[in-house]
Amino acid sequence: MKKFTITEFRAAYPDNDACLDKIFQLRYNGLVCPKCEGTKPFTRVKDRRSYQCPGCGFQIYPTQGTIFEKTTTPLTHWFYAIYLQTTTRNGVAAKELERQLNICYKTALRMAHQIKILMGNQNSNPFTGVVSMDETFIGGLNKNRHADKKVEQSQGRSVKDKTPVFVMIDLNRQVKTFVIGDTSGFTIKPIIEANVVKENCILVTDDWKAYSGLEADKYKHVIISHTTGEYARGAFHNNTPESFNACLKRTIKGTHIHVSTKHLQKYVDEVAFRWMNANNQDKMFETILQQVV
Ligand SMILES: [Zn+2]
Repeated sequence: MKKFTITEFRAAYPDNDACLDKIFQLRYNGLVCPKCEGTKPFTRVKDRRSYQCPGCGFQIYPTQGTIFEKTTTPLTHWFYAIYLQTTTRNGVAAKELERQLNICYKTALRMAHQIKILMGNQNSNPFTGVVSMDETFIGGLNKNRHADKKVEQSQGRSVKDKTPVFVMIDLNRQVKTFVIGDTSGFTIKPIIEANVVKENCILVTDDWKAYSGLEADKYKHVIISHTTGEYARGAFHNNTPESFNACLKRTIKGTHIHVSTKHLQKYVDEVAFRWMNANNQDKMFETILQQVV
């Protein structure tokens, strides 16, 4: 698999000017001056984050309206943070950005969150074909908690202090994720309804009770009966969302240690982004930059 290596990254974006040039190219490639309609290429204005028309002097600020506009953080920092967040297997903690870029934790966290939001701007089309789905619980590790905050029986599906996440994946590695309040059919079924094309879908789930009754609603539904030790039914299995969820847990536990429910969707989106783009690792950085502009 082709990778965007750190050497290639450093060569492409050695300084703030190179980053600004990239943003300008992405946004204004082939620009015709809106003022004089001149077609000569704009040139960089010294000591400003702008480019100007050689004909009339009209200026354009390519970071205007982007997450880079109001930041005093150098563009090289942003680009490096995007590089790390797109190329590191299990993501990068804000703590790590703080250390590597020598910036304060608050700034690092804000950058990390904004990049996650860009990673979440993906696929809003409903799924067709075979769609497998599963839920998981994030957070609330008893062993890391003070004795007075420990929760009885906080394993498995009946938990009070973990946050459920519902995941749907199609055969093209596309993922939709939802941080949800509970894992009842009442909560999950409307999400399924809104995100698959009923007539053209085969739903694959395990035998959790929330999924029962989908057939009655006229879905084609394959149930893999985990409770009786079944892990595949004919060609159908539920391994993909289960490995996604394992990856999600690994990322949150291993990289971020703790994520609040409020921000969890952003972290889940980030894992989904890397999952969906795993076969285009070399293009992930570029994909995010295109989201910026
Ligand atoms: Zn002009």
